[in-house]
Amino acid sequence: MTEEDFTVVAADEAAMVSLGARLGAACEPGAVIFLQGDLGMGKTTFSRGFIRSLGHAGAVKSPTYTLVEPYRLRDLDVYHFDLYRLGDPEELEFMGIRDYFGDFSVCLVEWPERGLGALPSADLVITIQREGRGRRLLFRAETAQGERILAQLRTGSRAQTQA
Ligand code: ADP
Ligand code: MG
Repeated sequence: MTEEDFTVVAADEAAMVSLGARLGAACEPGAVIFLQGDLGMGKTTFSRGFIRSLGHAGAVKSPTYTLVEPYRLRDLDVYHFDLYRLGDPEELEFMGIRDYFGDFSVCLVEWPERGLGALPSADLVITIQREGRGRRLLFRAETAQGERILAQLRTGSRAQTQA
C-alpha cells in the first residue's frame, strides 16, 4: 500500500450509498474507476450513490445485459459498465469502447477483470470484501489523478467524522 491507499468499512447499504456519493463529490472528469469484488459485494450500490450524487434522480441498475449504461449529468457524462457477462474483451472493441473513455467522462467499471486488454487502465481501483454484515472497501490510486481523488475523498471523510 502507498500512503494514498486507504480502507473504509461501510456497515450497511445506506453507508455504501453515501460512500459512493462522497467519491462522486471528490471525482474529476476523465477518471476511470474499477470496482472489484464478488457478486453481491455492493458494487452497484456504491455506483448508485456515486451517480445520484452527480445529479441523477432516477434508478441505477446494473447494466448486466447491455454492458454499459450512460448518464448525461449536470457537469459530465458517467458511463457505468458491468462486464460480468462479457464473453471476450474483444466485444468491447466492437462496441466502440474508446468513445466512452474521454477527458470529460467518468467511467465506473464493475468486473473490470473480464475486460482486461481492451479496457484502459484505472486511475482508482476499489476492492470490496465482506466485513461482518457490512463491507470493507480498499481504495487504491494507480495514477496521479487517482491520488488527487483519494486525497479529496479523505479530506471529506475527516470533515465528516468531525461534524
Ligand atoms: P454487486 O453489484 O457487487 O453484485 P449489489 O450492489 O447489487 O452488489 O448489492 C448486493 C446486496 O448487498 C444488496 O442487497 C445490497 O443492499 C447489499 N449491500 C450493499 N452494500 C452493503 C453494505 N455495505 N453492507 C451490507 N450490505 C450491503
Ligand atoms: Mg452489480
